[in-house]
Amino acid sequence: CRASLEIQESSSGGANLQVHGVSHTVVGVLGGGQLGRMLCEAASQMAIKVIILDPLEDCPASKLCHYHMVGSYDDSATVEEFAKRCGVLTVEIEHVDAATLEKLEKQGVDCQPKASALRIIQDKYLQKVHFSRHGIPLPKFMQIDDLESAKRAGDLFGYPLMIKSKRLAYDGRGNAVAKSEDEISLAVNALGGYARGLYVEKWTSFVKELSVIVVRGRDNTMLCYPVVETIHRENICHIVKSPANVSWKILKLATDVAQKAVSSLEGAGVFAVELFLTADGQVLLNEVAPRPHNSGHHTIESCLTSQFEQHLRAVVGLPLGDPSMKTPAAIMYNILGEDEGEPGFLLANQLIGRALRIPGASVHWYDKPVIGPSMGIVEARLKSMLREDSKNDQPEAAPRVGII
Ligand code: ADP
Ligand code: MG
Repeated sequence: CRASLEIQESSSGGANLQVHGVSHTVVGVLGGGQLGRMLCEAASQMAIKVIILDPLEDCPASKLCHYHMVGSYDDSATVEEFAKRCGVLTVEIEHVDAATLEKLEKQGVDCQPKASALRIIQDKYLQKVHFSRHGIPLPKFMQIDDLESAKRAGDLFGYPLMIKSKRLAYDGRGNAVAKSEDEISLAVNALGGYARGLYVEKWTSFVKELSVIVVRGRDNTMLCYPVVETIHRENICHIVKSPANVSWKILKLATDVAQKAVSSLEGAGVFAVELFLTADGQVLLNEVAPRPHNSGHHTIESCLTSQFEQHLRAVVGLPLGDPSMKTPAAIMYNILGEDEGEPGFLLANQLIGRALRIPGASVHWYDKPVIGPSMGIVEARLKSMLREDSKNDQPEAAPRVGII
């Protein structure tokens, strides 16, 4: 699957020009999950070569990438070996070996975003310390090392108390809520104990969760995608509405907070900034991801440049694309699929089958945006897809989850 193209330039004297895609830079991606696969899809359009480092032989990106090195992105020697094959090294997951990347950077390896950004972000507590030092508004937080300090935090912040693991957290798996002092130990145990490295956050009773995808080019140009609203179910991003239905003032505030947060981190690429909107109109930072994000998948259908194309443009040093929406409204509805035989399998299958018949809906294995001429119409289309008594429902005609 070599991506090279020969252009005959006959008008200028017949010179043969060998063009290897939009950029000659080989992009090495640490991680070959769904996000890595979606990066490969965008790269294919521009004939940019993407190589992947992932321990799973059949990881989602493996079939779409130019080359897949089977190995751990946590292993220093493996990452060093992988880096030799790339023009630029980037990530689709933040839980990589930041110390190795810092060492490689000193040897001249080009990491985008920079290892320092990954080191800060991969430790949520360090992230909070970093952003609060940069004057970014965020919920109060403090480290806890034992029951005594956890109780002290509870006295200070009140209950419910959000207890979070500093590292290796995703899809809410590093979070536990203590509704009262009596529940602290249960919550801490669920997270693996104090030794895992924990901190607490003051509970934020937000009215909405917002997210802003920010991209920074290698020349430090910064652009923001429209602010979106995210709705989580069981801590997993379930619905994304773009644009967010909030006042102009809140859109501006959210964009400013997101830009300020990303300005404090180093390197090129896409960053996703998760935010809380409070009843009194404050926008607080929840966390930042140094990569494309669930809340930006709708950009594939609804924006002039998808977050994946944008990330590639940014890390290889191409001009950034226009992040504006090309449709007035979009909703991403995330179906949490289950394997055949499990209770959610048939429902997921039915929803996918219906989505394929909804105007403006596109199905992605992993997420499903619906786009349309207004948020009202998009919401109505989504509703019709979710209605269980849908007249068009033909589950037997629905595709199997595995082949989408
Ligand atoms: P993950 O890394 O799994 O995305 P987050 O820290 O973003 O974890 O938390 C997941 C979800 O939990 C958030 O999107 C939000 O709905 C809720 N949450 C997180 N922190 C708080 C908080 N301090 N107060 C209230 N809800 C929170
Ligand atoms: Mg989150």
